[in-house]
Amino acid sequence: MRHHLGAIALLATLPACAVNPATGERQLMLVSEGQEVAMGREADPQVSAQYGLDPDSALQAYVRGLGQRLAAASERPNLPWSFRVVDDPVVNAFALPGGFIYVTRGILAHFNSEAELVSVLGHEIGHVTARHSASQMSQQQLAQVGLVAGMVLAPRLQNFAGLAQAGLGLMFLKFSRDDERQADELGLRYLTRARYEPREMPKVFAMLANVSQGESAGRLPGWLSTHPDPVDRQQRITQMIAAMPDSGPRAVNRNEYLRRLGGLMFDHNPREGFFRGQTFYHPDLRFQFTFPEGWRTANQRQAVLAQPSGQDALLQVTLDEEVSPDAAVRAFVGQQGITPGPVRATSAGGLPAATARFVANTADGVLAGLVGAVALDGRVYRLLGVTVEARWPTYEAVVTATFGSFGRLTDRAALAVQPLRLEIVTLDRAMTLEEFHRRYPSQVALDVVARINQVRPPDRLAAGQLVKRVVGGPVP
Ligand SMILES: [Zn+2]
Repeated sequence: MRHHLGAIALLATLPACAVNPATGERQLMLVSEGQEVAMGREADPQVSAQYGLDPDSALQAYVRGLGQRLAAASERPNLPWSFRVVDDPVVNAFALPGGFIYVTRGILAHFNSEAELVSVLGHEIGHVTARHSASQMSQQQLAQVGLVAGMVLAPRLQNFAGLAQAGLGLMFLKFSRDDERQADELGLRYLTRARYEPREMPKVFAMLANVSQGESAGRLPGWLSTHPDPVDRQQRITQMIAAMPDSGPRAVNRNEYLRRLGGLMFDHNPREGFFRGQTFYHPDLRFQFTFPEGWRTANQRQAVLAQPSGQDALLQVTLDEEVSPDAAVRAFVGQQGITPGPVRATSAGGLPAATARFVANTADGVLAGLVGAVALDGRVYRLLGVTVEARWPTYEAVVTATFGSFGRLTDRAALAVQPLRLEIVTLDRAMTLEEFHRRYPSQVALDVVARINQVRPPDRLAAGQLVKRVVGGPVP
């Protein structure tokens, strides 16, 4: 039977072997263009939900306009192209099959010209026109799309399996080195067609190399984790540009770009929660709690998470849609495969709460844990502590203590935190970066100011030049 099924699957893929219009290569496609667009359409709302979109509609319109112009001149102008800025501080850009392209506000903060932004949009368009993500989708990855969709339908247990992969595996598809080279070449093609200065493109790779050196440990390096060494790419593209004919004036649009960055949020938004040690503070929702010592923590848009170093347990705090702690706990333990203990009314930090112990049969084996819920200011928060059944005695005390640490946030300094933002300064005279940093101080260190401006400290800044600084706060 298996052999017969395999033969049918193979036959089904044969008619899809076709010449790709962007690369001129023959490709064996496992998915049709219609399926490719459908995959993108299905994952796109999950990306938006996971990251959120940057609220600056002028900035969104600007990026969309640039992207649409590039895509219209590509070999696949009729895809449902979309270009959006996601509210994420990590330096990253990515594409879903079918033409759904995202750049983070973190990468925008690091560009210094429109031509640099266009280079990256062109690279991502290249992944789509060359059908890298679509041709790379193995059966297993197709199954993963199903898994992500399944997690959205049954979100209550999603994160036990999901934490290790940081959620959406689909977006972090790692392209091959050859795919990346091809996307760079196609990006250069689209940039040149749109009459931008190609010599701005290698600057992006230099910036990425700087970011990778300055990246603090423990932060997901985004683009850098999914792309080859930027120094190699910089050399290769520089050689290609040197071989191109000089065809007259090309747009850089440095000042036009930089002026759009004034007010752009920089780094994490502490209003959406921040850690001081193991304690998590949420100024907008006015709550706090403390995770166990030594656990690795993560503040994601839809959950706050912690895992011990052995990764054999998970603590997760989420906003629940139920109307009371009791209802939230009952909804959780009422799921199929869960065997609950009694639901108890209790309190946490003086707030009304409910808890229940449970055992769950899942694809990960038999899990045991505690689910608790707390009501605060008309919202219900759910804390889930879960581990494999045999390890529950090890973790029960710290899970219970974390639940008990939940309370109303009253610390005035924590309540008053504000995000950092970029400010664009026009220099009245030439100066070094150090002088700039003294005259126009930033809330970040000099090396960060150097990195976002792509200058090295001995370099002089020219009179009239636009320079980024980072202002705002108070920071946590
Ligand atoms: Zn790429």
